[in-house]
Amino acid sequence: MGPDDPGSNPGSPIFWCIIMKLIKGDTTKRFSARYGLTVRKKLLKIESLSRARYDCPYCGGESTVKKLSVGIWYCNKCGKKFTGKAYTLNKK
Ligand SMILES: [Zn+2]
Repeated sequence: MGPDDPGSNPGSPIFWCIIMKLIKGDTTKRFSARYGLTVRKKLLKIESLSRARYDCPYCGGESTVKKLSVGIWYCNKCGKKFTGKAYTLNKK
C-alpha cells in the first residue's frame, strides 16, 4: 500500500473525501480512475477469474468450460450449458 492508494487508508483525508462523494452519489464518473488500487485490484481479480477456463463437472474435460455471461457457463467438449457462480466456477 502506497501513498497513491487512498482507498485503503481510513486515516487519509482523501479517503473521507471519497466517502462523502459516495454518500452524495457523485461516484460513477470517478469510479474507475480514482478509487484507488484496492477497488481496481478487486475488479481485476474478478475479471481474470471470469476469463479463466475451468474443468467441466459433467464430462470431466480439462479447461473446456468458459463463461458465456454472468452466471452461465459453457463446456466446449460436451456442449453443456450450466449455471454457476456469477464470476467463478468452483474448482474441485
Ligand atoms: Zn463438458
